[in-house]
Amino acid sequence: MIIVPEREIADLMTREAAFDAVEQVFASMASRDAYNFPVVREAIGHADALYGFKGGFDRAGMTLGLKAGGYWPNNLEQHGIINHQSTVFLFDPDTGKANAMVGGNLLTALRTAAASSVSIKHLARADSKIIGMIGAGHQATFQLRAALEQRSFEKVIGWNYHPEMLPNIEKVAIDAGLPFEAVSLDRMQDADVIISITSAFAPSLMADHVAPGTHIACMGTDTKGKQEVEAALLARATVFTDEIAQSISIGEAQHAIADGTLDQDQITEIGAVINGTHPGRSSDQEITLFDGTGVGLQDLAVASAVVRLAVDKGIAIEVDF
Ligand code: NAD
Repeated sequence: MIIVPEREIADLMTREAAFDAVEQVFASMASRDAYNFPVVREAIGHADALYGFKGGFDRAGMTLGLKAGGYWPNNLEQHGIINHQSTVFLFDPDTGKANAMVGGNLLTALRTAAASSVSIKHLARADSKIIGMIGAGHQATFQLRAALEQRSFEKVIGWNYHPEMLPNIEKVAIDAGLPFEAVSLDRMQDADVIISITSAFAPSLMADHVAPGTHIACMGTDTKGKQEVEAALLARATVFTDEIAQSISIGEAQHAIADGTLDQDQITEIGAVINGTHPGRSSDQEITLFDGTGVGLQDLAVASAVVRLAVDKGIAIEVDF
């Protein structure tokens, strides 16, 4: 069995490798070569923790396994470690033997940023110049850094519920040599691409805050009850997702589905666009919206890439198990 500890991930995994792994597995999902298992998420009644599993099997990549972990709200204060904790376990699909155990914390941020990046590559207008960020927490910095690689952006604009956090994303913009402007939500009209990545339970971005032709990646809503954008925006947009089952139950589309303004068969898996079985954006005026809910197969794809890199570089820890 191979172990790749969390401390090694930063030196092993690149944004490019995460992007390729996630793009490939989305394609496999749409061609039904890969599927996710139902998500388990439980309040365990201890340490206020939410714990669960996301798993799946990718027949094309021969990747079987799960990510186990969750959210421990008191970690930072009481234990000096981050509140989100996860580990990926990979198994041999031929025998069921455990193959690898990989630190999943940084990988989660990289695979989540890769998902919105894949959506920008395939759905945003080629001439996109301004990117708008809604959210400025831990994930937002990864999201912006990865997105900037997909188009020749010239400016970053940002809004956050807690404005004092905006310097987090301003720093990413400045490091990339781009100007940053803090704006009101209605100024998101200026953006060609918008990423929302917050933990909100009520919408911030309204349908009339968005100009025709915009691509929006909604990345924060991954649980029942969370919501970042007005349901009417999904009715106005062409909606894409990583996985339809998650989109309508725990993703941003849950609200438009519940109020009847969106039908499940109006949602397309992004993998279909990657595979060329769906044309994707059909005009420069169309609003496209990617509902990125976060699937287990993304975690397995990046973890399996990390294992290969760790073995190649001779830093994988091998144990007889
Ligand atoms: P964080 O705690 O670092 O940041 C939270 C962000 O949400 C901040 O920008 C904060 O200002 C904002 N926010 C908090 N309350 C708000 C409110 N009431 N209204 C509007 N904004 C509010 O969290 P993070 O690690 O950056 O995660 C952000 C979200 O992304 C979480 O909901 C997390 O569950 C989700 N997430 C999704 C995926 C996926 O695959 N889709 C993966 C990882 C995390």
